[in-house]
Amino acid sequence: MCGIFGIANHSDASRMAHLGLYALQHRGQESTGISSSDGDQVFTHKSMGYVADVFSEDVLKRLKGRNAIGHTRYSTAGDSSEGNAQPIVVKSIRNYGTVALVHNGNLINAFSLRERLERQGAIFQSTSDSEVILHLLARSEADNLLDALAETLAQVQGAFCLLLLTQDSLIAVRDPNGFRPLNLGKVDGSYVLASETCAFDLIGATYIREVEPGEIVLMRGDDLQSVKALHAPRLAKCIFEHVYFSRPDSVVFGRTVQTSRDLMGHILAQESPVDADLVVPIPDSGVAAAIGYSQESRIPFAFGLIRNHYVGRTFIEPKTKIRHFGVKVKLNPVKELLTGKRVVLIDDSIVRGTTSRKIVKMVRAAGAKEVHVRISCPPTLSPCFYGIDTPTKKELIASSHTVEEIAKYIEADSLAYLSLPGLIRAVAGKGSEFCTACYTGQYPIDFVDMTADDKAEDRQLDLWEASLKET
Ligand code: AMP
Repeated sequence: MCGIFGIANHSDASRMAHLGLYALQHRGQESTGISSSDGDQVFTHKSMGYVADVFSEDVLKRLKGRNAIGHTRYSTAGDSSEGNAQPIVVKSIRNYGTVALVHNGNLINAFSLRERLERQGAIFQSTSDSEVILHLLARSEADNLLDALAETLAQVQGAFCLLLLTQDSLIAVRDPNGFRPLNLGKVDGSYVLASETCAFDLIGATYIREVEPGEIVLMRGDDLQSVKALHAPRLAKCIFEHVYFSRPDSVVFGRTVQTSRDLMGHILAQESPVDADLVVPIPDSGVAAAIGYSQESRIPFAFGLIRNHYVGRTFIEPKTKIRHFGVKVKLNPVKELLTGKRVVLIDDSIVRGTTSRKIVKMVRAAGAKEVHVRISCPPTLSPCFYGIDTPTKKELIASSHTVEEIAKYIEADSLAYLSLPGLIRAVAGKGSEFCTACYTGQYPIDFVDMTADDKAEDRQLDLWEASLKET
């Protein structure tokens, strides 16, 4: 996952990008960067760390020009290192001058493309899958950038929302399956693009519409040119954006995430009621669904667990040690609220089960009489290969355990998940338009770089690196 932001023809382009990235920080906390252009030169600053730490007044002053793109990175392909921070900038691409690129998503045929390109003499600067796009672009025989891009993107498969900055233009692309969100807005008469609309709210931009799946949008000065250049047999909008990843105040795929999550809670309470005294969310991911559950069940809601907001998202750190440590450092129970109570704990998902197990223990140790766990999505059975960091199938507890067995493992008095039809009802879309592969194992695009056996076993984060080591 990553967050991307772009702005065309604005007098304060890099400052707007900087603000926009603050609102997209939840989509990636490993590294961040901005490229701007003044019609002549492209300026870039990127580094590991948070938006608040990476950009200073001096840096922003140096990011001159009326066009800018920015990125917050959370690695799902390529390692977590400075070399993989975005924007990726390449100079002297024949015909197009300097080009900077930011990418949200994950390409599933990046390895085979890279292998082919390397055989042809390409030298890569990073292990990021996104760099493949720039190499393909540089090799295109097309005589204008839009055609070259359409030709390039017809060769890549997977999830990609892209923003490209050239010396005199800004280009936005969304893959034809529409896996990840990308929105178009306007501020002070300038076009603005962002993974999530919460970035528009922050800078006072008006939401216009989503960038359509398969659309390429070219902005030059005040002009906007759009082509529907890429085609796919079906849409595959990531349902997990609504379950967990996006901010609740964002409009994602045309629907406010908070509305979906609230409804998930209501439907969960209808499907899996329980006799209890208190509904407690696991903050922050379970809050909206817990409110819905409490309203529907008429069981009082309380913040029985308090989150330390200065730790960051535990799961988002790729190192296991930090993740395990994170649970304790992040949450603390309010004993007075929990003592003697039959508690319904609500979270958005169980991945490995380690977090839930620790939290159930924590709530019981704080005096709860019973602990019932309710999850606002179906059991996570299969890894994502389109940009959400998930562990291998083996590590996903629901892939090899029944709900009863998981309940036993996490030591809950009862456990229930939202059904898939319930989830689809909550996001108010057609089921066929969403990617639900993490719950069904049915992948909308089949694998190019892996066999079916690999698919079940290999850890997504290690894919790219492992393949590199072999060569
Ligand atoms: P686990 O201990 O592995 O079961 O992790 C479950 C917790 O991780 C839940 O609280 C989820 O909100 C959170 N979570 C689920 N998927 C992701 C993800 N892809 N990235 C970050 N956090 C996640």
